[in-house]
Amino acid sequence: MDTPGASSMKILIADDSLVMQRLLQATLESWHFEVTCAGDGAEALARLQGDAPPELAILDWMMPVLTGPEVCRLVRERATSPYTYLILLTAKSQREDIVEGMGAGADDYVVKPFDKHELEVRLRAGRRIIELQNQLMLAQEALREQATRDALTGCWNRRVILETLSRETIRAERETRHLGVVMLDLDHFKQINDTHGHAAGDEALREVVRRVMGMIRGYDALGRIGGEEFLIVLPGCDELRALSHAERIRQAVERTPVIVDGHEIKVTASFGASSMPPGIAMPADLLVRAADEGLYAAKRQGRNRVSFQLPEQLGQTRKAVS
Ligand code: GH3
Ligand code: MG
Ligand code: MG
Repeated sequence: MDTPGASSMKILIADDSLVMQRLLQATLESWHFEVTCAGDGAEALARLQGDAPPELAILDWMMPVLTGPEVCRLVRERATSPYTYLILLTAKSQREDIVEGMGAGADDYVVKPFDKHELEVRLRAGRRIIELQNQLMLAQEALREQATRDALTGCWNRRVILETLSRETIRAERETRHLGVVMLDLDHFKQINDTHGHAAGDEALREVVRRVMGMIRGYDALGRIGGEEFLIVLPGCDELRALSHAERIRQAVERTPVIVDGHEIKVTASFGASSMPPGIAMPADLLVRAADEGLYAAKRQGRNRVSFQLPEQLGQTRKAVS
């Protein structure tokens, strides 16, 4: 017969009776569950709110420090994710006890002395809920990825990078810091597609993103805003830093050809950099426009280069300090 612990699940047993702990532990381990024990309610709560918490807990009702229902209430108040399935184990079997226990946030209850088979089917029900919860979380994660990431390259998509830039302009103003932006566009990319094929072009895009990602800091952001056009947000970067970042990235793109199916593809990119000085409130699209103008200047000047462009109307929006 399929044992309830077949795909191992971590279970916490909280009981102030050592005899009960051992009995439950032996039973659950014979079903191949991974078991940890706590001797009172506070220890149980700490375990459930700690790192790598158990997915399911069997809680005695009467325990020192915190009772089983109190633990349930405190776990539910925090509404942690992933969900913890809580079973109250109690000698109390009155209707009002059950109502109180479930009302506190328990998912199920087992009456002491427990019947092995009943416990087994209740654990199985708990595992089904936990598995459904895990599937739901994976599906949500996949949806979040789809909604925020560029499917080809894995960097942020257009919406997210523009939202990030807007947020960073507000933060930079509040914190009186510089904010750098860099826009980059691959050079003669149509020709790369025409010569080596669209799949090779895709691989070149992925490789450029890998290189850029390897060169930016944790709090910088890279997003794809068009076909072969990307935006990099660089908090704290003034004109010089934005320029030097862009230049280092330009060199990293140019330095080594992208290899696709044994063929070397020479890839270069043009860059437009801009920055917002501290103490200036500036809409994100003004910065984007400046970076875009820089980019087109770089293209006009022969490509594979960086050009800096100050945002227009700079100086007119300097905030009055009262
Ligand atoms: P320039 O140096 O002026 O930027 O020239 P370019 O050829 O790079 O610019 P253009 O805008 O004429 O062409 C961009 C090309 O990028 C055309 C389009 O087919 C290609 N492209 C856009 N998105 C993708 C993609 O996801 N994969 C591939 N392989 N190609 C793409
Ligand atoms: Mg291009
Ligand atoms: Mg383009």
